Amino acid sequence: MKAAVFKELGLPLSVENVADPTPDAGQVVLKVGRCGICGSDLHVTEEPDFLAPSGKVLGHEFAGEIVAVGAGVERIRTGDKIAVLPLSGCGHCISCLSGEPAWCDHRQVDGGGYAEYALTYERQCVVLPSTLSMEDGALVEPLAVGLHGVAISEMKPGQKILVIGAGPIGLAAIFWAKRMGAGKIAATASSMRRAELAKQMGAEIFVAPSADPVAEAVEALGGPPDIVFECVGKPGLIQQAVATVRRRGTVVVLGLCFKPDTLIPVIAVGKEVRIQCSGFYSLQEFQHAATPLDAGDVAPRSMITDTVSLEDMPPIFEALRERTTQCKVMVKPW
Ligand SMILES: [Zn+2]
Ligand SMILES: [Zn+2]
Repeated sequence: MKAAVFKELGLPLSVENVADPTPDAGQVVLKVGRCGICGSDLHVTEEPDFLAPSGKVLGHEFAGEIVAVGAGVERIRTGDKIAVLPLSGCGHCISCLSGEPAWCDHRQVDGGGYAEYALTYERQCVVLPSTLSMEDGALVEPLAVGLHGVAISEMKPGQKILVIGAGPIGLAAIFWAKRMGAGKIAATASSMRRAELAKQMGAEIFVAPSADPVAEAVEALGGPPDIVFECVGKPGLIQQAVATVRRRGTVVVLGLCFKPDTLIPVIAVGKEVRIQCSGFYSLQEFQHAATPLDAGDVAPRSMITDTVSLEDMPPIFEALRERTTQCKVMVKPW
């Protein structure tokens, strides 16, 4: 089969023929329908201290159709359309058994979606509602990231929300905050490109670059936000979130910053800010992330701006390292 393989720092992904996967006990093979390109895949191919191993096939936002099942697989059948929860744990510990593979001692973040076929475990397969397309299935993972962030924020109905960043994760946070009862939601971004999208997802206020976009957003919210979601992952933004949130408010860190960052602790201490990091999601959250699309709430589909073949993907993947007009790019291997 064909797969886009990571070779080494500084080289683009390489589309190569690799061995077709065969399922061991408990495993399944899916024919990949779509796989979203995620910012974290860009990070692990450019940050020397966090580099993916050479030979790895990345891509963790994927959906497909089951084409082979291994021994002992009972719940999933050939022909099922599934999204893959891309966290593999041991499958036996209390975390795994309670649907929290993220907290298994043997947790691994799986890739494999940038390929024609992918191998996973039955327990990581979430069968998609029949109304969902492959594109929808590949959106479940980033939607689950946003859902978990809002859930862990302990947001109360009516609260004022500021979302810093309007990439797919910021947009997903807006989407869920709105549906979980937020009051006014303001979003800031580095350009006006995402204004329409942010509003479709549920933001009432959108502030593009200005001298002080966060101050403008606070003004439009009518006061400091109860919760700030940091969804960019650049140095200085946690400090900005802490400085902006109300006293005893909450900052949720969803952005993946791979660089050292500074924070003036006394500002956080003086306001008793709760800084809550958010990574991953539970199986329950992952399953729930598909439900709005199934119910006809299709705003997240607008995040998909481009679809590329596996062959055409490597240069597009490289181009995404710079600021582009794309939001979510989907790889279509077939
Ligand atoms: Zn991702
Ligand atoms: Zn486990």
